Amino acid sequence: MTLSETSVETSGLEVWIDQELCTGDGLCVQYAPEVFEFDVDGLAYVKDAAGDLKLGAGLRVDVPAGLRLDVIDSAKECPGNCIHVNRVTDGVPVAGPEAGSGSGAGPEA
Ligand code: SF4
Repeated sequence: MTLSETSVETSGLEVWIDQELCTGDGLCVQYAPEVFEFDVDGLAYVKDAAGDLKLGAGLRVDVPAGLRLDVIDSAKECPGNCIHVNRVTDGVPVAGPEAGSGSGAGPEA
């Protein structure tokens, strides 16, 4: 675990996708359709509270409070390992390829 679950519950988070690595499988769209959506290119993008897709490379959106754990789970299970979830206050990676230990390659029960 990289950060305590308590921290995740109370911290503002932001998320972005590296489309260069997206496989287009749609796991994230299933987990949190309010935050992730496919564009016509078949790749997933983040969208803001107004529902507008962020199509520029590296553009990020705030994660709605009620969707933090869904977004973190998406990042942990993303086959492309390309969903980046960071804490807003200091940019510390919470989930995704930069989060270090606690996601991805950890032992499965
Ligand atoms: S889970 Fe990852 S690889 Fe799959 S569509 Fe979403 S961003 Fe792309």
